[in-house]
Amino acid sequence: MSKMTRWTWSTPTGQRKLQSVADHVFWSYTLLSVTREIMVRMKAGQPNPFPNGRTKETNIRMSRYQRGLLNIRDLERDQALAEDGIRVCAHCGSHAPRYHRDHLIPRSRLGSVVLMGNVVRACPACNLSRGNRDLMIWHHDNETFPSLGILRRYLKICYFHARDQGRLDQPAAAAVTEGLPFDPRAFPRRFPPVNELVWDHAWPN
Ligand SMILES: [Zn+2]
Repeated sequence: MSKMTRWTWSTPTGQRKLQSVADHVFWSYTLLSVTREIMVRMKAGQPNPFPNGRTKETNIRMSRYQRGLLNIRDLERDQALAEDGIRVCAHCGSHAPRYHRDHLIPRSRLGSVVLMGNVVRACPACNLSRGNRDLMIWHHDNETFPSLGILRRYLKICYFHARDQGRLDQPAAAAVTEGLPFDPRAFPRRFPPVNELVWDHAWPN
């Protein structure tokens, strides 16, 4: 049974303009980190560390990524979490008699390039429903929101791949036109309320 977060995607007005591929990654990655911190505090029964809202803190912190004072972390820990977690669909958390290998960045767009951490366990329903659609476009179309664990991993893979291709500073639209295998403009600009989010289906607690 699917435990995906329901979410109607929208482009917020009044947020900072995002131009480069890196800007798009930094915004979603920072908002994810801020959201995760709130989630951890809530589970521990502690007060919200960002009572002025997630957007304000995200703006402050994103600038540190843009200036190189903070860096996107490598995938080592994400890999270990995925390997040690329970065997469920990475997207919807359901159990299946057998799983498909689903590529976060579609293999059809990568040619012969193999990316660390790009393969997840998916139930047949999710895998067939998605096809080779961009992961975020699939969620847009379904009106669902990924678990934070999968989203974090996806953003990292996208970031490191764009870096390897020398496309981080390129305007997102141009990078997509020139063959970037994911669309940074489809990354979430807004996140659902913290209490509606799933951290990681493989780590229910
Ligand atoms: Zn599924």
